[in-house]
Amino acid sequence: MPQYLVANWKMNGSAEFANRWLADLGRKSGSDRQVIVCAPAIVLGNPAVVAQAQNAGIALGGQDCHAESYGAYTGWISAPMLAELGATAVIVGHSERRQYAGERDGDVAAKARAAHAAGLTAIVCVGESLDERQAGRAETLVEQQVRASLPDSTTVNNTLLAYEPIWAIGTGQVAEPADVAAMHDHLARVCSDLGLPGLPLLYGGSVKPNNAGDLLALGHVDGALVGGASLDATSFAAIIDAAPKGQASGVCA
Ligand code: PEP
Repeated sequence: MPQYLVANWKMNGSAEFANRWLADLGRKSGSDRQVIVCAPAIVLGNPAVVAQAQNAGIALGGQDCHAESYGAYTGWISAPMLAELGATAVIVGHSERRQYAGERDGDVAAKARAAHAAGLTAIVCVGESLDERQAGRAETLVEQQVRASLPDSTTVNNTLLAYEPIWAIGTGQVAEPADVAAMHDHLARVCSDLGLPGLPLLYGGSVKPNNAGDLLALGHVDGALVGGASLDATSFAAIIDAAPKGQASGVCA
């Protein structure tokens, strides 16, 4: 499978920023690397950005979607709307949504199901808090999240599962490679048990150019979800370059 390098710009960027960023990044996607940029809707809706991303082989994604396709949900965006903007993926269940919008596993599963129905790849996020890790409960809790957040529409071709320890997101505090390896081994077993062997597993949490090589070389780490460092095209390019060569043809191409 290819390595998946997903940029999460969060509530940052503009069409102008995106055009410059894409020009600076250059062509980094290939048969062994799938680059996905999850940007605010204002960026996804810009035809010049969509065209430039397409030329560079880069997929565009949203950062959240509603579980319904349309309706009286002021301020939300639905999965079919994201697809109409040119997105082929969407993040669901990011810890910032779980924390600030009170989303629970059932909500995340409903959103992932909506994404699948709209033909989008769902990038489903799970991860433990620092207290949970220090209490030795990380694997148990993350497994529970996975089982409750992946809807029955999940296949290895329409979903990426991102393990993002909450305490490592945006803090500069990256998880120890041994802990990431142990969690990803565990998640690989859980996915097999769910009838999803080979579901791509991404790590996220303060991935930077100086630690990406070590993290991406670990077993069952099939890519990275990158927040802060993805806003700088040079840093993100270095993270992509640090990924080991994978094999052709993955989801979201
Ligand atoms: C994220 O937002 O998913 C993330 C991993 O952020 P950062 O890389 O900044 O920790």
